[in-house]
Amino acid sequence: MKMKQLALTASAYIRTRMLGRIRSRDQLLQWQEKQILRHIARVRALSAYYRELWQGLPDEQWRSFPVIDKSDMMTHFDRLNTIGIRKDEAMNAALRAEQTRDFRPGIGSVTVGLSSGTSGNRGLFLVSERERLAWAGTVLAKLLPGAFARRERVAFFLRANSNLYQSVNQGRLQFVYFDLLAPADKLIAQMNAYRPTVVVAPPSMLRIIGEAHRSGSMNVRPNRLISVAEVLDPLDRLYIEESFIRPVHQVYQCTEGFLAATCERGTLHLNEDVVYIEKEVVDAELGKFVPIVTDFSRITQPIIRYRLNDILTERREPCPCGSPYTAIESIDGRCDDLFYIPAADDPARFIPIFPDFISRTVIRASEHIEEYEVEQLAADHVRISLRVEAPYKQVTERTVEGMMQELCRQAGCVPIRIDFAPYASERGDRKLRRVRRTMRTANIPDPVGRG
Ligand SMILES: [Zn+2]
Repeated sequence: MKMKQLALTASAYIRTRMLGRIRSRDQLLQWQEKQILRHIARVRALSAYYRELWQGLPDEQWRSFPVIDKSDMMTHFDRLNTIGIRKDEAMNAALRAEQTRDFRPGIGSVTVGLSSGTSGNRGLFLVSERERLAWAGTVLAKLLPGAFARRERVAFFLRANSNLYQSVNQGRLQFVYFDLLAPADKLIAQMNAYRPTVVVAPPSMLRIIGEAHRSGSMNVRPNRLISVAEVLDPLDRLYIEESFIRPVHQVYQCTEGFLAATCERGTLHLNEDVVYIEKEVVDAELGKFVPIVTDFSRITQPIIRYRLNDILTERREPCPCGSPYTAIESIDGRCDDLFYIPAADDPARFIPIFPDFISRTVIRASEHIEEYEVEQLAADHVRISLRVEAPYKQVTERTVEGMMQELCRQAGCVPIRIDFAPYASERGDRKLRRVRRTMRTANIPDPVGRG
C-alpha cells in the first residue's frame, strides 16, 4: 500500500474514532443531515437515474424520494452508477473473478462485488479504490480499536465474490485470506501455521474452527472472533463462545454497505456515521423493522433510500456503552424467510411468523440439539433437521414437535405437519440459513413486501 492509500485508510480510521466521541443523538442527527444533503447534491449531479427519479423534489425533501430495491438497482445499473460502467461489463468481471478465484478483479481500480442470491437475482456493486480504503479504515476503527498500534494477524474467510477485503495489508497489520470452500482440515492446518490473532468468518466457519479447537486439532486461540456474512444464530453463538471462551463480535455488512458492528459491550449498533437508516416498521411492539439505507459515504454506486430484504429487531434498552448509534437486538434474517402459516379461523388468510421465533422455539426445546434447520416447504408443512445424539433423538423430536405446534397455536395458526430429518451439514457455496422458507408465496399478500 502506498503512502497516499494508507493515508486514506488512516483518515477514515481517525474520523470514525472522532465521530465515536459524539454522545448526543441530536448532535448526531444534525451532523448526518448535513452529510446527506451534501451527498444528495453530488448524486443528483452525477447519476442520471437518480436525477430523473427525484425530478421535482428539492434536496431538502430527500425523505420523500422514492424507495428503491435490488431489482431497481439492477434494472437501471448503467445510468445509476456515476462512473459509466455497464452492467454486462461488471457482471463479466465479477463472474470471471468468481470462477478463477482471482481476488483482484474489477474494472480499472474499481472493485466489482456480486451479492449472493439465486441466479438472476444477484446484485452487482461497484466500489472505487478510495471508497475501499476508507471502508477498511472504518471497519478497523469499529472492530479493532488500536489496530494501528498493535500487531495483529487477521485471518479473513470469504467466499469468492469480491476483493473488497484485500485492502488492508500494511504495517503492523497482516491480512491473510482463507478460502471458505477449501477442505476443513487444510484450513485448520493453515490456521495453525499462521496463528491469527483475529478471525473474521461466517458463523458456520467459526463453528468448524470451534470444533477443531475443542478436539485439539487446532492449537491457536485468537483474541478476537468476528462473525460476518450470515445470521449469527443463538445456538452457534453459544457454541463458538464456549469453544474459545471469548465473546463473538458481529459485523452486519452486505454488498449494499457496512451497516452495523458490535461495540465493546457486544451490542450491535447501526453505523450511523456512514449510513442513514430509516425503519420500515414490520411489528412495532416487537421492534421489528426492514432497513431503508441511505449510504452517504459512497458515490461510485450511490445507495439512496434502498430497501434491504432483511428484518432487524431494535434493542429496547439503550446500550450501556453510551453510543448514540441505534442499538440492535438482532439481525433476524431475510424477509423471504418469514414463515406464512394459514390462520386457524380462516385458512385463506396467512399469519407471518418471524424466523427468530422459530429458532428460539427449536433451541429451547432441548439442550441436546447440536445443530438444526427448519424449512417451510408448504403452507402447513415444515421439515426440521436435527443433529442430536442418538439416545436423545426421539424425545427431542417429540418436544420440538410439541413446542412448534404450541407456537402455531399461540400465533393463531392451524396445526402444521412436521417431518423430521437427520441434519446434513453440507459445506459449499451456500450461506447457512437455519430458518428458511422454500414455499412459494405468489398468492400470499406479503405484509413486509412493498405492497
Ligand atoms: Zn454499545
